[in-house]
Amino acid sequence: MNPLPTSSVIGILGGGQLGRYLVIASHHLGYRCVVLDPDPDCPAGQVGAELIVSDYDDEQALDQMAAKVAVATYEFENVPVPSVQRIQAHGVEVRPGLKALSVSQNRIQEKTLCLGLGIPTAPFAAVSEYQDLIVALGHIGFPLMVKTATGGYDGKGQRVVRDAQVVESVWNQLGAGTHPLIVEGWVDFAAEVSIVVARARDGEIEYFPLVENQHVEGILDVTVAPAQVGAGIAAKAKEYAGALAAALELVGILAVEFFVTRDGRLLVNEMAPRPHNSGHYTMEACAVSQFEEMIRAVAGLPLANPKLLYPAAMVNLLGDLWQGRSESPAFDKALALSGAHLYLYGKTEPRVGRKMGHLTVIEGSADQAARTALRARRLMVAKDGGDAG
Ligand code: AMP
Repeated sequence: MNPLPTSSVIGILGGGQLGRYLVIASHHLGYRCVVLDPDPDCPAGQVGAELIVSDYDDEQALDQMAAKVAVATYEFENVPVPSVQRIQAHGVEVRPGLKALSVSQNRIQEKTLCLGLGIPTAPFAAVSEYQDLIVALGHIGFPLMVKTATGGYDGKGQRVVRDAQVVESVWNQLGAGTHPLIVEGWVDFAAEVSIVVARARDGEIEYFPLVENQHVEGILDVTVAPAQVGAGIAAKAKEYAGALAAALELVGILAVEFFVTRDGRLLVNEMAPRPHNSGHYTMEACAVSQFEEMIRAVAGLPLANPKLLYPAAMVNLLGDLWQGRSESPAFDKALALSGAHLYLYGKTEPRVGRKMGHLTVIEGSADQAARTALRARRLMVAKDGGDAG
């Protein structure tokens, strides 16, 4: 099949910040976009895409989108599988594809796929009855993590279990068997790292650099590129992510998150067949952004080599920064720092824990980039306009 002709329309299910930058990347490449999202003021609806305001399972809206687009994609993995099938029934391909979508919706399927490919993960067990949970505790031992198998993101739907006393309350908090759970062994990790890989229709794979991530309360806080890990870890991450992308028959991009254990093993934590928060730094620091690379794959264009041009760091700007202030954070103070780039997603309600934007710094070294990015974020909210260092 030929590449998507210029001016063709790409459908995007989901209109959050990832959709916003997919729209912008599509426009760069001469395409137009139709975005489907329930929020009439969603981030992707503000940048020149046509917006269909509807729930993801509204058949009429899905039909309307399918009638307008040449190809479709999704910006988050919790799009219902039947919605994608509905679009496909109109003869419209949805990339990265159904297999990538359905596997990445379910932590049990993700880890089972890894197991089948010989890719290491934390020990895990699928749990649907209270008795399964007790058996899993016996195998895996404390402390452990219990997570909902589907629907969780940004640390939601998961609890640490340190001893037998809290098992029953965690079981109840996570739905008491109303949906499947996964129990995972606790990983005492030295670092968390992630990689974005792109896979074209012909199976060609390109690898973005491995980056290091810090999370706070389950939400990504800081990404540093490149990860300060040995070449062996970086090579393994490429190998595993490439194998997963091929097994998922992916056409698009896949982000894979890993733990690096204190004894130097690399364990897959989770994966997402879409642009990833830990890949935002690519907009400045790589020869191609994760958004453009994804649109290239979806449109059947050649992939670019996403090599790192500058060491970089990205900090998320959560709604927390807005709390207790009558004005927005002082973005001008952050932007006065050399190498700083600001992205705001156009969200009007700065709720605690909500991703409102991010800031990337490119610098001479990854350490320096991280220091400057953190300083930039502190400056935005410093009470006296000064800098604590
Ligand atoms: P997740 O939603 O699976 O990405 O989990 C969010 C964050 O919780 C991860 O980035 C880790 O910091 C932490 N976490 C998740 N699973 C585990 C685990 N099995 N052991 C230790 N920490 C974990």
